[in-house]
Amino acid sequence: MSSELSFTGYRPTWCPGCGNYGILVALQKALKAMHLTPSDLFVSFGIGCSGNMNDFLNAYAMHSLHGRAIPNAIGMKLSQHDKPVVVIAGDGDTYGEGGNHFVHACRGNHDITVIVHDNGVYGLTTGQVSPRANKGDKSKSTPSGTLDMPLSPLALALTQGATFVAQAYAMDPNAYEIIQKGMEHKGFSLINMLQACATFNKMHTPAYYKEHTYPLQEEYNPTDFNQAIQKAMEPVVEEKFPLGILYDIQKPTYHEQLPQLHHTTLISRKRYTDSELLAKDFI
Ligand code: SF4
Repeated sequence: MSSELSFTGYRPTWCPGCGNYGILVALQKALKAMHLTPSDLFVSFGIGCSGNMNDFLNAYAMHSLHGRAIPNAIGMKLSQHDKPVVVIAGDGDTYGEGGNHFVHACRGNHDITVIVHDNGVYGLTTGQVSPRANKGDKSKSTPSGTLDMPLSPLALALTQGATFVAQAYAMDPNAYEIIQKGMEHKGFSLINMLQACATFNKMHTPAYYKEHTYPLQEEYNPTDFNQAIQKAMEPVVEEKFPLGILYDIQKPTYHEQLPQLHHTTLISRKRYTDSELLAKDFI
Protein backbone atom coordinates (compact mmCIF):
# COMPACT_ATOMS: atom_id res chain seq x y z
CA MET A 1 0.00 0.00 0.00
CA SER A 2 1.21 3.47 -0.80
CA SER A 3 2.17 5.59 2.19
CA GLU A 4 0.48 8.56 0.51
CA LEU A 5 -3.10 9.48 1.21
CA SER A 6 -4.27 10.31 -2.26
CA PHE A 7 -6.45 9.13 -5.08
CA THR A 8 -6.49 5.38 -5.45
CA GLY A 9 -6.03 5.54 -9.19
CA TYR A 10 -9.79 5.26 -9.82
CA ARG A 11 -11.39 8.42 -11.16
CA PRO A 12 -14.45 9.66 -9.24
CA THR A 13 -17.70 8.76 -10.97
CA TRP A 14 -19.81 11.54 -9.47
CA CYS A 15 -21.87 13.77 -11.76
CA PRO A 16 -20.24 16.98 -13.03
CA GLY A 17 -20.89 19.78 -10.54
CA CYS A 18 -21.44 17.43 -7.57
CA GLY A 19 -20.36 18.80 -4.19
CA ASN A 20 -18.75 15.45 -3.35
CA TYR A 21 -15.64 16.51 -5.28
CA GLY A 22 -15.14 19.45 -2.94
CA ILE A 23 -15.56 17.27 0.16
CA LEU A 24 -13.07 14.69 -1.11
CA VAL A 25 -10.50 17.42 -1.77
CA ALA A 26 -11.18 19.04 1.63
CA LEU A 27 -10.72 15.71 3.41
CA GLN A 28 -7.50 14.97 1.55
CA LYS A 29 -6.14 18.42 2.33
CA ALA A 30 -6.99 17.98 6.03
CA LEU A 31 -5.30 14.56 6.16
CA LYS A 32 -2.21 15.92 4.44
CA ALA A 33 -2.10 18.90 6.80
CA MET A 34 -2.14 16.41 9.70
CA HIS A 35 0.62 14.29 8.09
CA LEU A 36 -1.54 11.18 8.23
CA THR A 37 -0.83 8.09 6.14
CA PRO A 38 -3.38 5.36 5.27
CA SER A 39 -2.30 3.22 8.21
CA ASP A 40 -2.90 6.11 10.63
CA LEU A 41 -6.69 6.30 10.40
CA PHE A 42 -9.90 4.40 9.77
CA VAL A 43 -12.79 5.59 7.62
CA SER A 44 -16.32 4.21 7.80
CA PHE A 45 -18.27 5.04 4.64
CA GLY A 46 -22.03 5.05 4.38
CA ILE A 47 -24.14 3.93 1.43
CA GLY A 48 -24.90 6.38 -1.36
CA CYS A 49 -23.03 8.74 -3.65
CA SER A 50 -20.89 9.97 -0.73
CA GLY A 51 -20.00 6.40 0.25
CA ASN A 52 -18.57 5.83 -3.22
CA MET A 53 -15.64 7.92 -2.00
CA ASN A 54 -14.41 4.60 -0.62
CA ASP A 55 -13.18 3.85 -4.14
CA PHE A 56 -11.28 7.12 -4.47
CA LEU A 57 -9.61 7.69 -1.09
CA ASN A 58 -6.58 5.64 -0.16
CA ALA A 59 -7.20 4.73 3.51
CA TYR A 60 -8.14 1.77 5.71
CA ALA A 61 -11.88 1.75 5.34
CA MET A 62 -15.18 -0.08 5.57
CA HIS A 63 -18.11 0.48 3.23
CA SER A 64 -20.96 0.13 5.72
CA LEU A 65 -24.60 -0.84 5.27
CA HIS A 66 -27.46 1.67 5.20
CA GLY A 67 -27.41 3.87 8.30
CA ARG A 68 -24.65 1.82 9.92
CA ALA A 69 -21.54 3.90 9.24
CA ILE A 70 -21.55 5.37 12.76
CA PRO A 71 -21.80 2.13 14.81
CA ASN A 72 -19.04 0.62 12.69
CA ALA A 73 -16.93 3.70 13.36
CA ILE A 74 -17.56 3.35 17.10
CA GLY A 75 -16.41 -0.26 16.90
CA MET A 76 -13.26 0.83 15.08
CA LYS A 77 -12.58 3.46 17.74
CA LEU A 78 -13.12 1.13 20.68
CA SER A 79 -10.87 -1.53 19.16
CA GLN A 80 -8.00 0.88 18.50
CA HIS A 81 -8.66 4.16 20.24
CA ASP A 82 -5.19 5.49 19.38
CA LYS A 83 -6.29 5.94 15.73
CA PRO A 84 -8.46 8.76 14.36
CA VAL A 85 -11.78 7.54 12.97
CA VAL A 86 -13.80 9.37 10.32
CA VAL A 87 -17.32 8.74 9.03
CA ILE A 88 -18.25 9.77 5.50
CA ALA A 89 -21.99 9.47 4.88
CA GLY A 90 -24.94 11.29 3.38
CA ASP A 91 -27.70 13.19 5.16
CA GLY A 92 -30.31 10.56 4.33
CA ASP A 93 -28.01 7.82 5.62
CA THR A 94 -26.97 9.64 8.80
CA TYR A 95 -30.09 11.53 9.83
CA GLY A 96 -32.73 9.21 8.31
CA GLU A 97 -31.73 5.55 8.13
CA GLY A 98 -29.11 5.86 10.86
CA GLY A 99 -30.71 8.61 12.95
CA ASN A 100 -30.81 6.50 16.10
CA HIS A 101 -27.09 5.72 15.85
CA PHE A 102 -26.35 9.40 15.33
CA VAL A 103 -28.21 10.39 18.51
CA HIS A 104 -26.50 7.76 20.66
CA ALA A 105 -23.03 8.52 19.31
CA CYS A 106 -23.57 12.14 20.37
CA ARG A 107 -24.75 11.04 23.83
CA GLY A 108 -21.66 8.88 24.34
CA ASN A 109 -19.26 11.58 23.12
CA HIS A 110 -17.59 8.85 21.07
CA ASP A 111 -14.32 10.17 19.70
CA ILE A 112 -15.17 10.02 15.99
CA THR A 113 -15.50 12.69 13.30
CA VAL A 114 -18.73 12.47 11.31
CA ILE A 115 -18.68 14.32 7.99
CA VAL A 116 -22.18 14.45 6.55
CA HIS A 117 -22.74 15.20 2.86
CA ASP A 118 -25.91 17.27 3.21
CA ASN A 119 -27.61 17.68 -0.16
CA GLY A 120 -31.27 17.21 0.82
CA VAL A 121 -31.83 14.10 -1.32
CA TYR A 122 -31.02 10.41 -1.62
CA GLY A 123 -28.86 10.93 -4.72
CA LEU A 124 -27.84 7.36 -5.52
CA THR A 125 -31.47 6.22 -5.62
CA THR A 126 -32.23 9.11 -8.01
CA GLY A 127 -33.39 11.94 -5.82
CA GLN A 128 -36.04 11.12 -3.20
CA VAL A 129 -36.21 13.76 -0.43
CA SER A 130 -34.05 13.21 2.64
CA PRO A 131 -34.70 14.54 6.18
CA ARG A 132 -32.77 17.70 5.23
CA ALA A 133 -35.20 18.72 2.47
CA ASN A 134 -37.13 21.91 3.06
CA LYS A 135 -40.89 21.68 3.65
CA GLY A 136 -42.53 21.88 0.23
CA ASP A 137 -39.54 20.51 -1.74
CA LYS A 138 -40.75 18.51 -4.73
CA SER A 139 -39.15 15.25 -5.77
CA LYS A 140 -40.09 11.90 -7.32
CA SER A 141 -41.18 10.72 -3.88
CA THR A 142 -43.01 13.98 -3.04
CA PRO A 143 -44.49 15.31 -6.32
CA SER A 144 -46.75 17.71 -4.41
CA GLY A 145 -43.99 18.82 -2.04
CA THR A 146 -42.78 17.23 1.18
CA LEU A 147 -44.98 17.83 4.22
CA ASP A 148 -42.20 17.39 6.79
CA MET A 149 -40.13 20.07 8.44
CA PRO A 150 -36.39 19.80 7.71
CA LEU A 151 -34.41 18.09 10.45
CA SER A 152 -31.93 20.34 12.25
CA PRO A 153 -28.77 18.21 12.56
CA LEU A 154 -26.77 20.90 14.35
CA ALA A 155 -29.43 21.40 17.04
CA LEU A 156 -29.94 17.64 17.36
CA ALA A 157 -26.21 17.06 17.86
CA LEU A 158 -25.95 19.90 20.38
CA THR A 159 -28.90 18.79 22.48
CA GLN A 160 -27.74 15.16 22.52
CA GLY A 161 -24.24 15.87 23.83
CA ALA A 162 -21.94 16.37 20.84
CA THR A 163 -18.88 18.35 21.92
CA PHE A 164 -17.89 19.71 18.48
CA VAL A 165 -20.53 20.91 16.02
CA ALA A 166 -19.66 22.67 12.78
CA GLN A 167 -21.03 23.42 9.35
CA ALA A 168 -19.13 24.04 6.12
CA TYR A 169 -19.84 24.42 2.41
CA ALA A 170 -18.39 21.75 0.16
CA MET A 171 -16.88 24.12 -2.41
CA ASP A 172 -15.24 26.42 0.15
CA PRO A 173 -11.46 26.01 -0.37
CA ASN A 174 -10.94 26.47 3.39
CA ALA A 175 -13.43 23.77 4.42
CA TYR A 176 -10.48 21.45 5.11
CA GLU A 177 -9.56 23.56 8.15
CA ILE A 178 -12.88 22.69 9.81
CA ILE A 179 -12.35 18.99 9.04
CA GLN A 180 -8.87 19.19 10.53
CA LYS A 181 -10.18 20.89 13.68
CA GLY A 182 -12.96 18.31 13.96
CA MET A 183 -10.44 15.46 13.70
CA GLU A 184 -8.13 17.07 16.23
CA HIS A 185 -11.03 17.47 18.66
CA LYS A 186 -11.26 14.79 21.39
CA GLY A 187 -14.87 13.64 21.41
CA PHE A 188 -17.80 13.45 19.03
CA SER A 189 -17.45 15.93 16.17
CA LEU A 190 -20.09 16.64 13.55
CA ILE A 191 -19.27 18.54 10.40
CA ASN A 192 -22.42 19.11 8.37
CA MET A 193 -21.18 19.73 4.82
CA LEU A 194 -23.67 21.60 2.69
CA GLN A 195 -23.34 20.41 -0.88
CA ALA A 196 -25.18 20.61 -4.19
CA CYS A 197 -26.62 17.53 -5.84
CA ALA A 198 -26.34 18.87 -9.38
CA THR A 199 -28.55 16.16 -10.87
CA PHE A 200 -31.47 15.69 -8.48
CA ASN A 201 -31.74 18.78 -6.30
CA LYS A 202 -32.60 21.79 -8.42
CA MET A 203 -33.40 23.90 -5.34
CA HIS A 204 -30.16 23.71 -3.31
CA THR A 205 -27.84 24.94 -6.03
CA PRO A 206 -24.50 26.76 -5.59
CA ALA A 207 -26.41 30.01 -6.15
CA TYR A 208 -28.83 29.06 -3.35
CA TYR A 209 -25.96 28.38 -0.95
CA LYS A 210 -24.22 31.61 -1.94
CA GLU A 211 -27.35 33.52 -1.03
CA HIS A 212 -28.23 31.59 2.15
CA THR A 213 -24.86 30.95 3.85
CA TYR A 214 -22.67 33.28 5.89
CA PRO A 215 -19.50 32.81 7.97
CA LEU A 216 -19.58 33.10 11.75
CA GLN A 217 -17.91 36.28 12.95
CA GLU A 218 -14.51 36.18 14.65
CA GLU A 219 -16.02 37.30 17.95
CA TYR A 220 -18.40 34.31 17.97
CA ASN A 221 -17.84 32.23 21.14
CA PRO A 222 -18.00 28.47 20.36
CA THR A 223 -18.26 27.53 24.04
CA ASP A 224 -21.60 29.32 24.45
CA PHE A 225 -24.24 26.58 24.25
CA ASN A 226 -27.26 28.89 24.06
CA GLN A 227 -25.74 30.90 21.24
CA ALA A 228 -24.86 27.69 19.41
CA ILE A 229 -28.47 26.47 19.67
CA GLN A 230 -29.72 29.77 18.30
CA LYS A 231 -27.34 29.52 15.32
CA ALA A 232 -28.19 25.87 14.80
CA MET A 233 -31.89 26.68 14.37
CA GLU A 234 -31.35 29.46 11.81
CA PRO A 235 -31.52 27.11 8.79
CA VAL A 236 -34.98 25.95 9.90
CA VAL A 237 -36.31 29.27 11.18
CA GLU A 238 -34.80 31.75 8.73
CA GLU A 239 -33.27 29.56 5.95
CA LYS A 240 -29.87 31.03 6.86
CA PHE A 241 -26.89 28.64 7.17
CA PRO A 242 -24.02 29.70 9.47
CA LEU A 243 -20.62 28.37 8.38
CA GLY A 244 -17.90 27.62 10.91
CA ILE A 245 -17.51 25.99 14.32
CA LEU A 246 -20.71 26.54 16.30
CA TYR A 247 -19.68 24.60 19.37
CA ASP A 248 -16.39 23.25 20.72
CA ILE A 249 -15.96 22.12 24.33
CA GLN A 250 -14.02 19.40 26.12
CA LYS A 251 -15.63 16.52 28.03
CA PRO A 252 -14.38 12.98 28.71
CA THR A 253 -14.83 10.75 25.69
CA TYR A 254 -16.52 7.36 25.86
CA HIS A 255 -13.34 5.27 25.64
CA GLU A 256 -11.53 7.47 28.19
CA GLN A 257 -14.14 6.42 30.75
CA LEU A 258 -13.43 2.70 30.25
CA PRO A 259 -10.73 1.73 32.79
CA GLN A 260 -9.82 -1.38 30.78
CA LEU A 261 -8.65 0.91 27.94
CA HIS A 262 -6.54 3.24 30.07
CA HIS A 263 -3.24 1.49 29.43
CA THR A 264 -3.81 -0.44 26.24
CA THR A 265 -6.00 -0.73 23.17
CA LEU A 266 -8.61 -3.45 22.96
CA ILE A 267 -6.93 -5.00 19.94
CA SER A 268 -3.62 -5.38 21.76
CA ARG A 269 -5.12 -6.99 24.88
CA LYS A 270 -4.39 -10.65 25.54
CA ARG A 271 -6.75 -13.02 23.72
CA TYR A 272 -7.86 -15.94 25.91
CA THR A 273 -8.51 -19.41 24.57
CA ASP A 274 -11.82 -21.10 25.41
CA SER A 275 -10.12 -23.31 28.02
CA GLU A 276 -8.52 -20.25 29.65
CA LEU A 277 -11.90 -18.51 29.77
CA LEU A 278 -13.50 -21.64 31.25
CA ALA A 279 -10.78 -21.75 33.88
CA LYS A 280 -11.62 -18.16 34.79
CA ASP A 281 -15.38 -18.91 34.87
CA PHE A 282 -15.93 -16.33 32.09
CA ILE A 283 -18.01 -18.76 29.99
FE1 SF4 B 1 -23.59 13.97 -6.74
FE2 SF4 B 1 -26.25 14.03 -6.95
FE3 SF4 B 1 -24.78 12.95 -8.92
FE4 SF4 B 1 -24.99 11.72 -6.55
S1 SF4 B 1 -26.66 12.08 -8.01
S2 SF4 B 1 -23.10 12.02 -7.73
S3 SF4 B 1 -25.06 13.47 -5.12
S4 SF4 B 1 -24.78 15.11 -8.26
